[in-house]
Amino acid sequence: APAPAPAPALVPTHCPYCSLQCGMNLRGSGETVEVVERDDFPVNRGALCGKGRTAPAVLSSRVRLTGPLVRRPATGRLEPATWEEALRVTADGLRRTRARHGADAVGVFGGGGLTNEKAYALGKFARVVLGTSQIDYNGRFCMSSAAAAHNKAFGLDRGLPFPLEDVPRTGCVVLVGSNLAETMPPALRYLTELKDNGGRLIVVDPRRTRTAEQADLHLAPRPGTDLALALGLLHLVVAQGRTDEEFIRERTTGWEDARAAAMAHWPELVERITGVGVPQLRSAVALFCDAPNAMVLTARGPEQQSKGTDTVGAWINLALATGNAGRPLAGYGCLTGQGNGQGGREHGQKADQLPGYRRLDDPAARAHVAGVWGVDPDSLPGPGRSAYELLDALGRDVRALLLMGSNPVVSAPRAAHVEERIRSLDFLAVADVVLSETAELADVVLPVTQWAEETGTTTNLEGRVLLRRRALTPPPGVRSDLEVMHGLAGLLGHEKGFPTDPEEVFGELRRASSGGPADYAGISYRRLEDEQGVFWPCPEADGPADGPDGPNQDTVGTADGTNGPDGPGRRSVEAGGRPDGPAERPRGHTGEPDRPAGDPHPGTPRLFLDRFATPDGRARFVPVVHREAAEPTDAEYPVVLTTGRVVAQYQSGAQTRRVDELNAAAPGPFVELHPQLAARVGVSDGEPVTVVSRRGRAVAPARVSEAIRPDTVFMPFHWPGAGRANTLTNPALDPTSRMPEFKVCAVRLERAAG
Ligand code: SF4
Repeated sequence: APAPAPAPALVPTHCPYCSLQCGMNLRGSGETVEVVERDDFPVNRGALCGKGRTAPAVLSSRVRLTGPLVRRPATGRLEPATWEEALRVTADGLRRTRARHGADAVGVFGGGGLTNEKAYALGKFARVVLGTSQIDYNGRFCMSSAAAAHNKAFGLDRGLPFPLEDVPRTGCVVLVGSNLAETMPPALRYLTELKDNGGRLIVVDPRRTRTAEQADLHLAPRPGTDLALALGLLHLVVAQGRTDEEFIRERTTGWEDARAAAMAHWPELVERITGVGVPQLRSAVALFCDAPNAMVLTARGPEQQSKGTDTVGAWINLALATGNAGRPLAGYGCLTGQGNGQGGREHGQKADQLPGYRRLDDPAARAHVAGVWGVDPDSLPGPGRSAYELLDALGRDVRALLLMGSNPVVSAPRAAHVEERIRSLDFLAVADVVLSETAELADVVLPVTQWAEETGTTTNLEGRVLLRRRALTPPPGVRSDLEVMHGLAGLLGHEKGFPTDPEEVFGELRRASSGGPADYAGISYRRLEDEQGVFWPCPEADGPADGPDGPNQDTVGTADGTNGPDGPGRRSVEAGGRPDGPAERPRGHTGEPDRPAGDPHPGTPRLFLDRFATPDGRARFVPVVHREAAEPTDAEYPVVLTTGRVVAQYQSGAQTRRVDELNAAAPGPFVELHPQLAARVGVSDGEPVTVVSRRGRAVAPARVSEAIRPDTVFMPFHWPGAGRANTLTNPALDPTSRMPEFKVCAVRLERAAG
């Protein structure tokens, strides 16, 4: 009898969606790919949410793009084209715009889901091939406020400065504006284990979410007032003598000003601002300060505000004042959202940054990266517009756009305006896996390979660099984003410098990042094959690493929240070379044990244990004060709208809305509102309700629930059309991070006709 066919191999890889980057195995080919549990990856230990489990559905030719499309003048429609034609039309569109209006009339918009290699290549493509300063990405809408606050306080931005495995072992977690149970369900176990170990959980959220239901204490402030809440807690900490004076004295600067700012926020005042009662504030302080160690974790709630940087700063101040930073099992961290939200901001697709998380206006950083790229540093453009400002400039200063891995027609604030700006472009090319709402408006659509069809690295919310392996052969009509950039670069006169092999691109990224804040020089594909990820910074074995002055002092984060050059301790970087400081083995903020010279750097799971990444090694308190949201409620718009996500959909929904199982679970938008508000408006559960802001109207079924404050409504933002939540949101920007105010704007409710 013939031998049975061998079982198809399991390929270990990672989920394409959120920043947890859950491990999974894939088996199969073509239209029959299945996800098989992978329990060796420590972050999720086999658990997946519905999005990860069903991710192969988007690989199906039923829902994806399978060939390029070009808009035909004769019909005005997108119609099939060859790759040769699609790339030629794209190159012509970009070249023509540049010739007529200058390099900065060409924009590039990237995404936090792009692999590190793609994000790196896209930043290089924009600056070297197009010569434009106008590049930013949708990660600006995700965690930029936390990144800025991190840089201000600690001199370095890595979402979590400790691995998730530390969370269950601390004594108390304050979770601010995060609904883990819906956004990354496998991570909920860290909180359940915390409680099983006797730890306490405080959740700050205007809604009683499934995550808040797990809490020992749920604080439900009015949206946009959590800065005041943090100040009120710090006031009580000081008043009760529960500060850690030794830590403040030995490891921080700026306490007196931060203390004075907090003392101006009396608990009774904070109660009036936030709606959280003084007894609850006192309970929170007791839980937090009674714990031997504590952590503060923030997500989009405090961050997506026009004062997001200050709001996160206020929570960091609380952690610092109580000594809960820079030591084991304690600290502040941000739960990044998008799949490569962390890595996507480190490698150069951000308006103000170069690879390695270097700052674009730092001459030493420019010289280093230009050396790797083989170009004149003076040829590199300066910083460009932030994401919303770039979208707002479309059709005006910016006339052509290359967009990769983003769907701003659904995900940008003031989305109807953004859609209008996109429609007014002279030329739009979109590279995507599906025909998203933004791709539908393009002149050229370039269909690209997906997560399971290409190899590449991502960096999860812990700063753990991971290898996503190619498990499948892509369909013949699609190309990788790297191949797209290679093809376009060639047509635009850059035959070299844009390889299509991800490992080759990663090798260049390692050199470009070497000596920078996010140093990947010691990480290789081979290591990633063998290890469960490697935490950055990971310098070369005997490379520059962090000398005695702390890490990467050529480009440490500045007190203004950016990764800028900054005073004492700064070392110069030669073109193509390394920081010229002493080549000592890494030590300092990494807290790692000594290792023999020449051994590979082990990576850095825990940061700041001995010193922070500031020039003097001390964390910086930043004095912040409460201020109102950019658009306070008034008689005409008396209700606060806050937006967010649901478990079965991801971001703009471009992929997950194409998965039957997810659509069945979350078929469309809704307006969550309290029974008292529903009664005032005169709507019942399930009836359509119109939400009106100064920017437009959206209509969706009412979901009446006591889980939300009576003065607030909630809408998820995953859908286009009449129920598009972002039609309503306010693009008011945080002055430091340029984050729009997705989380709070003023609206009124009306009964929808019919
Ligand atoms: Fe894990 Fe996030 Fe993927 Fe869900 S979406 S499986 S939580 S990585």
